[in-house]
Amino acid sequence: MDKIIVLTGAGGVLCSTLAKALAKEGNKVAILDLNLEAADEVAKQITEKGGKAIGVEANVLKKDSLEKAREKVNKELGSCDILINGAGGNHPKGTTSKTHFMEEDLKNKESDFKSFFDLDPEGIKFVFDLNFIGTLLPTQIFAKDMVGKKGCSILNISSMNAFTPLTKIPAYSGAKAAVSNFTQWLAVHFAKTGIRVNALAPGFFLTDQNRELLTNKDGSLTERGNTIIAQTPMGKFGEPEDLIGTTLWLCGEASAFVTGVVIPIDGGFNAFSGV
Ligand code: NAD
Repeated sequence: MDKIIVLTGAGGVLCSTLAKALAKEGNKVAILDLNLEAADEVAKQITEKGGKAIGVEANVLKKDSLEKAREKVNKELGSCDILINGAGGNHPKGTTSKTHFMEEDLKNKESDFKSFFDLDPEGIKFVFDLNFIGTLLPTQIFAKDMVGKKGCSILNISSMNAFTPLTKIPAYSGAKAAVSNFTQWLAVHFAKTGIRVNALAPGFFLTDQNRELLTNKDGSLTERGNTIIAQTPMGKFGEPEDLIGTTLWLCGEASAFVTGVVIPIDGGFNAFSGV
């Protein structure tokens, strides 16, 4: 492959791994992130190994910031062939403290306790914007580069929670369901242009975003961590490297007739009813 690939949120755990793998295959990669230091560090690691990469500061929620990023990518690498929309995540303000609501929860006055009734609309909005608008806006900016070219595609990052919502995280589940839905919508909308649109739906990867939910301070699994492992037929969390094969396939010519799919990469979690 010899493509120009833009990855948002690529200063983070999963997309930095994808960026390194794509650069190793001969692609030029633009590492976009709100955190320029993290983006530059990933780009540095790639260039040190002989790859071509640049770090670019970009906020996926601001059109002018993305326009600036596009100018820099166009000038330093060329026009974008492939966009990977990786920026996303959850927020504690959109998360309930307990799996099931009980009557006595209405009387719980602990400052860090959050029932469904305490969820902060601002927290919910933050999560919806980051995941959904943060996928839509970069697509509006970078897909313009793809129009009229061959071999272009967009890869969104959805999640397991898009198929069936996960307990405690209604905002993140709903926002990723919107990302999956948008992937199908855009695949249809762009079909005549030849731009393909697909998504990965990663299962459970131990990263900074979910470490506190899944592990205790001593490294042992929380109740939720144990429940996930019990529900995962392959019996383990994923490693970021597990996303590489499907990404190379969906970004390459081998998947030329594939558009509008959301692929679970989850050790069988989504296929298992629990019984
Ligand atoms: P991460 O927190 O390591 O990386 C996310 C990156 O996005 C960070 O570098 C952050 O600086 C950047 N970012 C945040 N807000 C931004 C903004 N407004 N503009 C630009 N960049 C911004 O997370 P990760 O675990 O690598 O997750 C990557 C993607 O995969 C996310 O969409 C996440 O929702 C999804 N995902 C993760 C898991 C998991 O288990 N880690 C599972 C399913 C889906």
